[in-house]
Amino acid sequence: MSIELTITTPEGVCLQDEVEFVEAPAAAGDIGVLPGHSPMLSPLRLGQVVATVDGNVQRFAISGGFVEIHPDTMLILADTAESVEDIDVSRAQAAKERAERRLEENSPGLDIPRATSALARAINRLETAGEACHSVQ
Ligand code: ATP
Repeated sequence: MSIELTITTPEGVCLQDEVEFVEAPAAAGDIGVLPGHSPMLSPLRLGQVVATVDGNVQRFAISGGFVEIHPDTMLILADTAESVEDIDVSRAQAAKERAERRLEENSPGLDIPRATSALARAINRLETAGEACHSVQ
């Protein structure tokens, strides 16, 4: 038994594949989805989607969105989604440093929620790419 997992963003389809198990950051907490799951609709938080096929794991950084689950399909509509291979680590590191600098300087007019979200997206990308420990001083 398998689930047809689709991960799509406004930029296009990021993954469409038959998988055995999916972990996703649902708003109320992380969920694990096996074939035969009850129908469910939920918002998603920033985090990682992890899909398992033949014991191999594929990881994606997502910046929130929605998930629709049926017994044999799972549709993730994400604001942004990148596979580990597609994550540009230098870009995420630069985004992290930029957001940290902005928050540290705290200049008048700084959009704190925007800078905080940018920092969280960058850290999530670095963690998904396995670079988190290199980013901590
Ligand atoms: P940046 O400041 O580097 O643009 P951001 O967090 O503001 O980062 P987003 O608005 O989340 O970027 O994403 C805009 C687009 O750029 C999306 O298509 C997203 O998938 C892509 N993207 C952002 N950062 C990266 C990255 N480090 N590696 C690969 N793609 C990225």
